[in-house]
Amino acid sequence: MSRTVYVNGEYLPEEDAKISVFDRGFLMADGVYEVTSVLDGKLIDFAGHAKRLQRSLDELEMAAPCTADELLEIHRQLVRVNEVEDGLIYLQVTRGAADRDFAYPEDAEPSLVLFTQAKPGLADNPVAKKGIKVISIDDIRWGRRDIKTVQLLYPSMAKMAAKKAGVDDAWLVEDGVVTEGTSNNAYIVKDGRIITRQLSNDILHGITRAAVLRFAAEAQMKVEERAFTIAEAQDADEAFITSASSFVMPVVEIDGAALGAGTPGPVATRLRDIYLDEMRKAAV
Ligand code: PMP
Repeated sequence: MSRTVYVNGEYLPEEDAKISVFDRGFLMADGVYEVTSVLDGKLIDFAGHAKRLQRSLDELEMAAPCTADELLEIHRQLVRVNEVEDGLIYLQVTRGAADRDFAYPEDAEPSLVLFTQAKPGLADNPVAKKGIKVISIDDIRWGRRDIKTVQLLYPSMAKMAAKKAGVDDAWLVEDGVVTEGTSNNAYIVKDGRIITRQLSNDILHGITRAAVLRFAAEAQMKVEERAFTIAEAQDADEAFITSASSFVMPVVEIDGAALGAGTPGPVATRLRDIYLDEMRKAAV
């Protein structure tokens, strides 16, 4: 059965959904996106994603295609018609279709596309029980990683480098310190302290990161927001990543060095449980 997707005001079977060849998202990666997870048919942290979307749009002087309330309704409608229990909703806004020109067009209408991806058992991912392995790779992305744009070629290349190395993901390193993962924020834990890079234009301001750091503080865990090296990470007691689709995912090996016992650590495991519990309660 084909999915129903949303394109510029219409709910259509995926094979009938069309975007112009002149769309600036296609020609220039002039677009931003969000991924919101769905658990038990409900949206996890929709408000956080809607807020970051508005920030990305503002930073790029791009018009919003509709209000946050309208976006919520589109998300809910797609979950309903596609009968998504567990999965993801991908949303993309572009500056729209216009004659190709580096200057922003003055009269283009923004394009809005949303689709669902079913992921049965998303929260019970067996990988969380054994953890993932990562390699480090140079971070050669542009300087505005805080804007969630669709220009994802380098993260894609980094993911392929990880696959070729026989591991799950890559941590990106700039000036000798870790920025973040290909599509997630990176953390280490040493002597009970959770260490993760401070917010700046160098990393995406993860919605999951914000929630996890809030829950960590509420649980009296110590958090240090600062950069760390790969050597420090390899010497840590544990490590993990966060993202809307992986929640909190333990990391058990970095560049071939096993962390601790080489199994998910107690801090990552506890944070994953708290995050899933609390976010399920607050889902809309
Ligand atoms: N950093 C990058 C580069 C990402 O692509 C993502 C996921 N889109 C994240 C961090 C995690 O962000 P979030 O928790 O909002 O999914």
